[in-house]
Amino acid sequence: MTNTKDTGQLPAGHVSNDFRGQDILSVSQFDRAKLDYIFNVGQEMQVLVERFGSADLLQGKILANLFYEPSTRTSSSFMAAMLRLGGQVIPINNVQYSSVTKGESLPDTIRTLESYADVIVLRHPELGAAAIAAHYAKKPIINAGDGVGEHPTQALLDLFTINQDLGQLDGLKIAMVGDLKYGRTVHSLTKLLINYGVEFVFVNPDILPMPEDVLDVVRGTGHTFHQTKNVHEIIGEVDVLYVTRVQKERFTDLEQYDRVKDDYVVDEALMSHAKQKMIVMHPLPRINEISYAIDDDPRAAYFRQMRNGMYIRMALLAAVLGKG
Ligand code: ASP
Repeated sequence: MTNTKDTGQLPAGHVSNDFRGQDILSVSQFDRAKLDYIFNVGQEMQVLVERFGSADLLQGKILANLFYEPSTRTSSSFMAAMLRLGGQVIPINNVQYSSVTKGESLPDTIRTLESYADVIVLRHPELGAAAIAAHYAKKPIINAGDGVGEHPTQALLDLFTINQDLGQLDGLKIAMVGDLKYGRTVHSLTKLLINYGVEFVFVNPDILPMPEDVLDVVRGTGHTFHQTKNVHEIIGEVDVLYVTRVQKERFTDLEQYDRVKDDYVVDEALMSHAKQKMIVMHPLPRINEISYAIDDDPRAAYFRQMRNGMYIRMALLAAVLGKG
């Protein structure tokens, strides 16, 4: 599925870059050594942007940014990442204006774009779409969210943020709150966190539990997890409170959505019971899950998370294009 692909005549990159020419489809491709590599390059990218704004590392390279679902942060941070590294972007955010509307298949769209670009970032509503695209493409495919499946680049930036803010990953107690059934970010984050000695707490309405296949991964590595409906029960003991939006677009019965959409609201009252050293995260967009009143609380990490997305995506683009 993730065979080495032809990226042209690039000079060899950093010795420990295992990503050259590879697809990024799932977090299961990452172990601690690979995570360390991406986080180190991510940190270098942060320094680069803060000092110089941009560089010419990917000059002459082209990214096709292909989004079949709405996106603000993922799409614009990939675009900014490519531009800050001196590359160019073909942005296809409105597939309704492309030949997709004429009935073109995903493989044909991918084959078209890879004849113009060096790497393709793909967001698609169907689980497994990125893997299908990768099967047909010779150039690297980066999964930017495949339906209710995975969102690996979000999980990488989430982990990077936890490590930066709390200075460690091992030993942390991490709660994920809200729509754990349809939220692809928590699927990927959970599967990435099993590389570390963490304890999981899953807080969700009855109808939105973490899928069994994700729980099986957690069980398989011997990690402890606890499931509850009550966020008040656990707020005082967690190091990370990762809040998610109830994914309205995945519901077939909107009455069910209305019943659970406001089950969890992180506000000042709830935060008064949280530890002093902890962080609140959210992949964004938020609807009502986090009160604007806590945005200035130093524990609110979601805007830092969003900025880190660009550094991590710079690191990934440099890595797959052989320049990491
Ligand atoms: N932006 C994230 C995603 O694309 C989270 C969300 O939409 O709720 O999965």
